[in-house]
Amino acid sequence: MKSTKKPTQRLHVDWTRCDGRGLCVELLPDVLRRDPWGYPLARDGSREPAVPVQALRNARAAVGRCPRLALSLLATTPETRGRHSAP
Ligand code: SF4
Repeated sequence: MKSTKKPTQRLHVDWTRCDGRGLCVELLPDVLRRDPWGYPLARDGSREPAVPVQALRNARAAVGRCPRLALSLLATTPETRGRHSAP
């Protein structure tokens, strides 16, 4: 049976690539904050924060502009949270 729950876009950071320059934090201040070293942290404390609909445009911009290609958007439902899908 197919889920009827609306998919949520979540932001994934590949920590093996990120170098903490902080462009994503500037574009997504409601989703991310900087840690003391400049690395992005989710404001909601999750590993892959949900991106509000009104921030999706900036999230896509952050994915496209990340100098380390460390960001991706995952389309997930609560049932698939924690599983990775292709960006
Ligand atoms: S823009 Fe990319 S490299 Fe810079 S802090 Fe964000 S994820 Fe890391």
